[in-house]
Amino acid sequence: MDYDVIIIGAGMSGLAAGIRLAMFDRRVCIVERHYNFGGLNSFYSLDGRRFDVGLHALTNYVGAHVRNTPLPKLLRQLRISRDALDLCEQSYSAVSFPGRQMRFNNDIQLLIDEVAREFPAEADNFLRLIENIKAYDDLDLSVQPTSSRRVLAEFFGDHTLIDMLLCPLMYYGNAEQHDMDYTQFVTMFKSIFLQGFARPKQGVRRIIAELVKRYRACDGEFRMKCGVKRITTQDRRVTAIELDDGEVLTADTIISSAGYVETMRLLQGAAGGMDHRPGQLSFIESISVLDIKPVELGIDATIIFFNDAETFTYAKPGDLIDPRSGVICMPNNYERHDDMAEGFVRLTSLANYDRWASLPEDEYKAAKARCYDLAADHAVKFIPEFRDHVIARDIFTPRTIEHYTGHINGAVYGTPHKTRDGKTHLENLFICGTDQGFLGIIGAMLSGISMANAHVLARD
Ligand SMILES: Cc1cc2nc3c(=O)[nH]c(=O)nc-3n(C[C@H](O)[C@H](O)[C@H](O)COP(=O)(O)OP(=O)(O)OC[C@H]3O[C@@H](n4cnc5c(N)ncnc54)[C@H](O)[C@@H]3O)c2cc1C
Repeated sequence: MDYDVIIIGAGMSGLAAGIRLAMFDRRVCIVERHYNFGGLNSFYSLDGRRFDVGLHALTNYVGAHVRNTPLPKLLRQLRISRDALDLCEQSYSAVSFPGRQMRFNNDIQLLIDEVAREFPAEADNFLRLIENIKAYDDLDLSVQPTSSRRVLAEFFGDHTLIDMLLCPLMYYGNAEQHDMDYTQFVTMFKSIFLQGFARPKQGVRRIIAELVKRYRACDGEFRMKCGVKRITTQDRRVTAIELDDGEVLTADTIISSAGYVETMRLLQGAAGGMDHRPGQLSFIESISVLDIKPVELGIDATIIFFNDAETFTYAKPGDLIDPRSGVICMPNNYERHDDMAEGFVRLTSLANYDRWASLPEDEYKAAKARCYDLAADHAVKFIPEFRDHVIARDIFTPRTIEHYTGHINGAVYGTPHKTRDGKTHLENLFICGTDQGFLGIIGAMLSGISMANAHVLARD
């Protein structure tokens, strides 16, 4: 079969790119190795319960009257109505460090007040930082990487404040260990602090259902349960795609959301292109189902980003997990979510892929149970003990992430070396999604849209 464009991966970026192209009458095929849509952020059923794989929060939330920010822009580009997502706002979230807490919600004023309360000497500096961020063009694809820690040290004298600002932004969108590129910091600051968190009432399946419906309505094709085994090339161009079942597809343009290094490993007969290293940062996440709502336990925050150590370390741990910091998410604590039948606590910690990958099968299950308790032991320093109320739980590890997405090392945010313009050394092969550099659900969709616009629609 021959197409105008083949897209590798039916995650958020691949689906968004597909809609954009199919909408403008390109013959598009999305090829996906798994049976389910959504990639890193999908959903599944276990023992009769429906779980979202990853959804803590949709970032970039703004009110219906705001037009010129990523969420309304992407909905416009995809012709999806805002009402279709049925977004519910967070109550409030918090960054909690030993003896310090800063709350924030979808109005930046709360965070401004909290910084002034916890760090009075830094209040004006925080206002200066916000002005700098508002004026910064984080969509300029030509900007060179700069250390956020270095830039933030020019604004603040207090290193705890720097760590407290970095903690949520790193957990929700940073592929680098220890530091973060300042452009990425600005993107994440805008999406989390200046805009905010929401959740579709029905979870991630609502977003995926809308994307798939839209794509199909424009006559886009899928090849599900059939991965790309090999990409063949000649004279710096992709000539064909070979699928796992041996079928060969051809297209003028290929857009891959599989990851940069992962895509390069599919190439046959093309020199070069392996100049990036796979990412190292992965996570373990547990979902605890409770017989009580979090609010009945006294937990009214939606998300808590915590750090229990003297300094905040965002890096691949030496052990299976680093329980000293993490993210605690209570999906019940979004507005209009109080009708959920059960309570949920999601707990995320940094994890070491190599340690998980080398565990013998008979030790894997026990290691998951051990790490669940270790992570919860630290989390309950920031929320009341909830484990007596757990009636079911599920835990996924870097191994699960690698299995379901093909990301080397289970690296959720891909390689630290982003390909911001989406170009590769091959004329008709482009990267979208995580390794193009726009992270998270909204980032991935924007990436798909912008790569489809730049490399196909604007060119034809
Ligand atoms: C536990 C967890 C929680 C998260 N929580 C949030 C959150 O609350 N909010 C948020 O905004 N973001 C969250 N994220 C991040 C977000 O899910 C991702 O940034 C985003 O979904 C990435 O989308 P993508 O399209 O770039 O890539 P992916 O989702 O990785 O999609 C790539 C797709 O390509 C397919 N593929 C790979 N190789 C091949 C091949 N050879 N052939 C065919 N198909 C292939 C994969 O199967 C996959 O479906 C979370 C991630 C995780 C893991």
